[in-house]
Formats: sequence, structure tokens, C-alpha cells
Amino acid sequence: MKSDMPRGAGSASGGKITKIQALEIVDSRGNPTVQTTIWTGNISATASIPSGASTGVHEALELRDGDKKRYNGLGVQKACKNVNVKIFNAVKGISAEDQEKIDAAMLELDGTENKRKLGANAILSVSLAAARLAAKCHNTELFSYLGKKYGYEPKTLPTPFFNVINGGKHADSGLDIQEFFIIPQKGKFSEKLRMGAEVFHALKAQLAKKGLSTAVGDEGGFAPRLRSNEEALKELADAIAAAKYRLGRDFFLGLDAASSEFFDEKKGSYELRASKLTAKSSNIYQIYRKWMVKYPILAIEDGCAEDDFLGWKFLTQNLGEKVLLVGDDLFVTNPTRIQMGITQKIANAVLIKVNQIGTLTETLAAIKLAQKNNYKIVISHRSGETADDFIADLAVAAGAEYIKAGAPSRGERLAKYNRLVEIETII
Ligand code: PGA
Ligand code: ZN
Repeated sequence: MKSDMPRGAGSASGGKITKIQALEIVDSRGNPTVQTTIWTGNISATASIPSGASTGVHEALELRDGDKKRYNGLGVQKACKNVNVKIFNAVKGISAEDQEKIDAAMLELDGTENKRKLGANAILSVSLAAARLAAKCHNTELFSYLGKKYGYEPKTLPTPFFNVINGGKHADSGLDIQEFFIIPQKGKFSEKLRMGAEVFHALKAQLAKKGLSTAVGDEGGFAPRLRSNEEALKELADAIAAAKYRLGRDFFLGLDAASSEFFDEKKGSYELRASKLTAKSSNIYQIYRKWMVKYPILAIEDGCAEDDFLGWKFLTQNLGEKVLLVGDDLFVTNPTRIQMGITQKIANAVLIKVNQIGTLTETLAAIKLAQKNNYKIVISHRSGETADDFIADLAVAAGAEYIKAGAPSRGERLAKYNRLVEIETII
């Protein structure tokens, strides 16, 4: 498309990619990640890539150097080099707004199913920076550029899932369940953020009073040593009351079980150590149901393991009418996996993580497929993050019902929430 590009700096290049530079930077966990800047003339845009800890086995591959002498083998110099040389050669001269062409060129160059040759981190950094550059060239906010490009009319902001108690792989709290959310129900986004922050502080005071740790885990939530998973739910309920909110009206609760992490595949059973419970895949839903009787739980993410389709079936048949059953490791933002879920009638919501699939084009295909089949959308950060706030704009652009970006604490988490506060004033 020849363009309605703005006049002035950079327009001589007609939005065509003229230069790319990837850098190895460090993420919120102290691990290296890729940051890429793309230029058209002298206009540039940058994107940085997140990284998970409880990664699904079906995710696209994050390329790490494996050189133990640097960053314990986690360096991303190879991925950066792939961007600077191979990818640059494949996409230079393509217009930044031709997202499909850019992404297709990278997929072709990579040629593998899980992006292992170039690395999904390398590919995604170019994909997201290109979208940002195109929005900039159009003098448009990213959410409105993406909304228009993908046929949406951005009007609403997502409701946040604030992960205020961290367990699983994100903390040493001893809890099997990885994330415990509080989900505010009322008002504008900025109100929901305020409510979330107030409960976060009430929870902090409550934990301190009991002599429990108030240090935070990877996603900004507290990581107290509690006796059981149920106790975490009770702490949330008490903190909501202490902040003068009503549970079941002002706030609902949610969890990310990340159950692939405590599923024993050989035995076909889930081992919840903190609750001293074991459940077969056909009856893990009964444990959640017990919690749901006691607490108003709105969402359960990865209630069953990534390939435990039988468990997912039982879970969906028994709880699917009452609660959002969100597939994260199950779907890995992959249209093929989502289609499998649709065909088998499992789950009713999809977690979207851009780095699970590795290009913006495929991310949008995943979102659209889910929406077409009435699955709700939860746009998500990763436990390893940067200050990049792309997902805030993406959530608004695609009309996602929910966003999950951690607790209202730690800069890399607030970057997303604060961007939504900003969007609220301009949408
Ligand atoms: P991860 O955790 O980024 O460590 O994978 C987030 C999640 O499981 O949702
Ligand atoms: Zn998850």
C-alpha cells in the first residue's frame, strides 16, 4: 500500500525498512533478552521480548546461546546476530506496515515449525518493532493502528487479573498453584488499578502482621510461606475485606494452576503438595470445585496439564458453565492447538502470549480464531519481562476481555497497567 505516510523525517524511505539493530539487554529476572530497533530513514521504533519460566512444551523456541561462560548459558547473542544479519537481509526494503510480508519472510527464512533456527525471540522482536514503526509512521497510537489494521474498533479496556500471591516456579512460597489473582469488577480501568493497588497494600499489611514475608516474586505478587493453596485464597478474601471491598461484588478471585508443573504424567495424577492432595486427571476438577464453593472464583488457568486432554474434558464439562477455563500451556497461542481445543470442546478462554508463537500475524490469527468460536481472550505478560508495554495496546486493539500483567507492583508490570491508564484518556 502506498501510503498515507506523514511527510517529514523518514518519509523519503516510504516506510520501507532501512536499518535494524538488535541488542542483548537484561530482563526483570536478570536474564538476557533481545531488544530490536527498526528504522525507516530516521524514524525508528523498538521492541523488547519477554521470557517465561513455566514454559509450555509446545511453545516456539527461545534461542539461547548455551555458552556457559556467559549468563549461565542464557545469552542471546546468536538471536541478535540472526536479527542483524539474516533477518535484516530478508526484510530490508519491505514497508513496515506490510506486517504479513515481514512475518512471512521470517517464517520462510526460518523454515522450522517451532522457529528454532532463527529463534522466536529474534523473529518476534522484529515483528513487534515493525508494527510499532508503522504506527509511528502513521502518526497513530499503536492500539488504534492495530485495531484498524486487524478490523476492530477499539472501544473497551481489558479487566486486569492482578497476580498478588505468587507460587509455583515464580517464587519459593511452597505453593503448587502458580498465581492467585484478584479481579476487580467495577469502573474504568484506572479505578480497577486503584482497587487492585489498595488490596495489594492491605494484603501486605496483613502478611506483615502475621510475621510472613512481604518480599515479592517474579510477577510482583507476594510469596509468603503459607500452609496450603486454600490459605492463599483466604488471604486474598481477607485482604479484600480489609480494604473495604466486597468479595463476589467488587472483586472476584482467579488462579493460574500452571498444572503441567505438578502433573505426574506416568501416574496420570496431579500432586498438590501444599494441599496434601493427589487427584487423577478425571477428578482434579473436584478440587477446584471445592474452592469455588467457598470463594467466588472467576477464572482458572491451566487447570489441567498441556496434553491432558481427558482432564480438560472433565474440567470443561463440569465447570465450563461456571468459570473461565483459560488455556495457556494448552494452547500456546497457536492456532493449530486452539483449533484442537475448539474441536474437542475444551476450555472456554485463551491466554495470548506473543512470544509463545513468535509473530504478530500468527498472534492475531490465534486471537481471531478464538473469538470466532466465542472463547474469551486474556492477553498476558511473561514472568520475565521488560518495560515494553506492547501487550497493553494489543489488548485494547483486539478487544480482549482481560489482561494479566502481574501484581500492581514492579516497574515492568506497571508499564503495562500505566499504559492502559494512558489509553483510557485517549480512546
Ligand atoms: P511464565 O508464567 O511466563 O513463567 O510462563 C506465566 C503463566 O504461566 O501464565
Ligand atoms: Zn499460565
